[in-house]
Amino acid sequence: KLSRRLETIMKLIPKECALADIGSDHALLPVAAVQSGRAVRAVAGEVNDGPLQAAAKQVAEAGLTDVISVRKGDGLAVIEAGEANVVTIAGMGGSLIANILDRGEDKLEQVELLILQPNVGEDILRRWLMEHGWLLTSECILEEDGKIYEILTAVPELSDQRISNRLLYEDQEWPKSGGEGTFTVTRDLLLRMGPWLLKEPTPVLIDKWNQELDKLQGILDSLSVSKLESAALKAKQVQMEMDQIKEVLACLQ
Ligand code: SAM
Repeated sequence: KLSRRLETIMKLIPKECALADIGSDHALLPVAAVQSGRAVRAVAGEVNDGPLQAAAKQVAEAGLTDVISVRKGDGLAVIEAGEANVVTIAGMGGSLIANILDRGEDKLEQVELLILQPNVGEDILRRWLMEHGWLLTSECILEEDGKIYEILTAVPELSDQRISNRLLYEDQEWPKSGGEGTFTVTRDLLLRMGPWLLKEPTPVLIDKWNQELDKLQGILDSLSVSKLESAALKAKQVQMEMDQIKEVLACLQ
């Protein structure tokens, strides 16, 4: 049975697609995607031998060796351009996912949908997408076994005329929660917290940012005892970051 995280990713895979799952580990996602009729064929890519063997075993046991090709290689190097129209990359840091996309950009030309699940560094990934002509089309957030995961989907920006990256990330004026005046939710904050997640906030989103505030408070506490000259400046930045997040959170609750 798939984890809730993988099940949620699986359900975002459109019917009858050609899938590439990069960093597939046990190939659970491509196997489930084919079995459910979402993918007609798939490539499971893995850079490490252990997970590669686990993937090959899983595919063989499912009797799907004719439709799922398990390949060893770094990132998108395992596919030919045009071989997949949907790419999933899940369970890695956002910077690694962005790096894989960046190094494999030539393989993305005919890709219509990216489904990405960064474990951390979501802002780095959103920024890469924005700067490389990919439009974020949905975001969801879920909790499983005490961990919080975000799942992002993106399409080539020009394929969706209803919205653009410029509109998605333009500064927003929000009324202050206390009722007096407004504050600006900047592009950096939208990249950090997720423009779609902020439109429809859930209790898990609020939990995530309360946890982030706790981490930032920890950083602030250790900076306050530091004797380094740079500590005061850094503390000021962290405090500003916390104030912004708190302001947003106050409006969400
Ligand atoms: N995608 C699966 C999931 O979400 O459950 C597995 C996630 S697992 C934590 C990350 C996998 O990515 C590991 O099996 C690792 O070997 C693989 N990986 C890391 N860097 C990679 C790269 N550059 N190219 C392909 N696979 C990579």
